[in-house]
Amino acid sequence: MMHSDIDKILYDRNTIAKRVTSLGQEIARDLEAATDHSDEIILVPILTGSIVFLADLIRHLPQKLRIGLISVRSYHGRSTTSKDLSLRSDIPPSLGGKHVIIIDDILDTGKTLNTVSSIIKEQNPASLRTCVLMRKIIKDRPLLEADYIGFDIPDEFVVGYGLDYDDYYRNLPDIATLRPDAL
Ligand code: 5GP
Ligand code: MG
Repeated sequence: MMHSDIDKILYDRNTIAKRVTSLGQEIARDLEAATDHSDEIILVPILTGSIVFLADLIRHLPQKLRIGLISVRSYHGRSTTSKDLSLRSDIPPSLGGKHVIIIDDILDTGKTLNTVSSIIKEQNPASLRTCVLMRKIIKDRPLLEADYIGFDIPDEFVVGYGLDYDDYYRNLPDIATLRPDAL
């Protein structure tokens, strides 16, 4: 069973649900203020880690919007440190003039968000914002910014709520660390 691999739970499902609700309300308020009815809003989730977060978040956004999935790979299989980043699918076309929000699971070194942001900026969106479920706080490293941040977490490898290790554990409803023998 998956649960026997869990070391400790960092955020349980109720805590996550509350935070995602307030994050969604904040984004909805900002969109309401920054857009009018003729504006196009598009969320750009980075696969695969952001899928569960995305599914919960969008149900707090009453605006008319679209979703344009993109896929990058920074970890390869069983590694838990970031390697070279490769874009595995094209950025959704014609983001020009649209209000874009990039959605990702974790902001770690910032490589993923930086790469995706700069590619999207070339298309001249009306606005570009970033939203991450978690941000890793690492000593001796400058704090990286995103417009919306769910949780600031310590430098530990976490799984669950969409996040994987070797593609497993995405279906865990809580965010947790793994026992050393499961890695
Ligand atoms: P960055 O490009 O900011 O270094 O890394 C961000 C990406 O690395 C995230 O989209 C996520 O896929 C992956 N990542 C970073 N830290 C973790 C972690 O603790 N657990 C998991 N499962 N993925 C992580
Ligand atoms: Mg990712």
